[in-house]
Amino acid sequence: MQELTHWINGKHVKGTSGRFADVYNPATGEVQARVPLASKAELDAAVADAARAQAAWAATNPQKRGRVMMAMVGLINRDMDKLAEALSREHGKTIPDAKGDVQRGLEVIEYCINAAQMLKGEFTDSAGPGIDMYSMRQPLGVAAGITPFNFPAMIPLWKMGPALSCGNAFILKPSERDPSVPLILAELFQEAGLPDGVLQVINGDKESVDAILDNEVIQAVGFVGSTPIAEYIYGRGCSNGKRVQCFGGAKNHMIIMPDADLDQAADALIGAGYGAAGERCMAISVAVPVGDATADALIEKLIPRIEKLKVGPYTAGNDIDYGPVVTAAAKANILKLVESGVAQGAKLVVDGRDFKLQGYEQGYFVGPHLFDHVTTDMDIYRKEIFGPVLSTVRAKTYEEAIGYAMDHEYGNGTAIFTRDGDTARDFAARINVGMVGINVPIPVPLAYHTFGGWKKSGFGDLNQHGPDAFRFYTRTKTVTSRWPSGIKEGAAFNFKAMD
Ligand code: NAD
Repeated sequence: MQELTHWINGKHVKGTSGRFADVYNPATGEVQARVPLASKAELDAAVADAARAQAAWAATNPQKRGRVMMAMVGLINRDMDKLAEALSREHGKTIPDAKGDVQRGLEVIEYCINAAQMLKGEFTDSAGPGIDMYSMRQPLGVAAGITPFNFPAMIPLWKMGPALSCGNAFILKPSERDPSVPLILAELFQEAGLPDGVLQVINGDKESVDAILDNEVIQAVGFVGSTPIAEYIYGRGCSNGKRVQCFGGAKNHMIIMPDADLDQAADALIGAGYGAAGERCMAISVAVPVGDATADALIEKLIPRIEKLKVGPYTAGNDIDYGPVVTAAAKANILKLVESGVAQGAKLVVDGRDFKLQGYEQGYFVGPHLFDHVTTDMDIYRKEIFGPVLSTVRAKTYEEAIGYAMDHEYGNGTAIFTRDGDTARDFAARINVGMVGINVPIPVPLAYHTFGGWKKSGFGDLNQHGPDAFRFYTRTKTVTSRWPSGIKEGAAFNFKAMD
């Protein structure tokens, strides 16, 4: 069986803690590798080495750091097939979807080529007599990222690109469920010219996460994952004096107005609800049709589309719509929530509970489910299911529909389908959710905008990528300067206007 490694100081390094986690092939249920789980001592040593490497990297001018990003773009494109294969083998998503995962990370690396532009400071000439004032953005030192299983290329790249191009060293603790792609990305960064030690990939679980949170050298922590862990990391990281941003779970609502194009809305719900087996933080998991006529017509359009979905392993070809979920535990949790929906009175219109795939009986495949008449007190409505399960909550009016999305504890993404500009504009203005789609079901912002949810979906002030990333991974220093020829008075004891 393959034994995976850490990536430390530019080399693959075996784990020394003696602890490992199994890495499964979710399509077959077989253990295909084991990944080392770092101890606090291993983590701390890698951070100390990163801190030493960081000084020279921070002194490298930003355009040279940008060139490393430029080379990285070429290398990721060169190795796209290899990355997608490694990703699908551990995660289970289809190859086209895995390429999309890599691509959306790659776009942030492209954005970081121009880091010099983002890092330019501000300057005021003659702010007072003979006085100039300027501010500069300096790297923090060592930053760390803790990432989830569901985008094993995109989310590590969202963090590596901005953190490194700002001149920081970066410690990545990827998900232990699909750790191979981050290791390949680290090799590619080395090939792109990143000095050894500046990027360390440390595999692990809670022990290494706690070691990151308690390490005094690490200045900032970026987390993406489930909300309970996000809250824990935010609390412990902040109380240890670190800059912390945590992005958590989701329950994304899509409102379908009576004037919407229902075929477009149904197609959008199929892709956004069942794509990647529903394991996306921007998946639509709640459909809110307005009016019973809209709801009935929508359900009628959804059923045949769901029945046509092709579920299978990524090796079965590119016409598979979605693959298995990530672990046996994830599958069990999804099916348990489906049972709770039935027990609590929701109508299971499409029942995927008996889904079996011949030849892959041990794989973690979950058939598609569609619920109608879901109410807000049900577990399937309140909890994130993270599986191919779409719940329909019927609303009588637009106000009732927007109220559901506003009152839910999560606020990652949301969408409205309508032809009416007034309604769309009102929705975008009032909704308390971080990312909003108007006739767009998965409104993931592009690299030069920022990504982040509200309420229990996001903790901290700044979002991921876009201009916020350059703020998160730098701190501002402001200098006031005057030369001896500009000094006209002796000791001054009072604060006063600079004129
Ligand atoms: P997870 O919270 O289980 O794990 C995320 C990371 O935290 C992993 O690296 C894991 O090793 C670590 N971790 C797990 N348990 C821990 C503990 N007790 N203490 C310290 N660290 C721990 O999440 P996941 O299952 O990998 O990913 C799915 C979740 O991520 C979903 O809730 C999804 O909505 C969310 N997600 C959110 C976004 C976003 O941008 N808001 C993006 C992707 C995924």
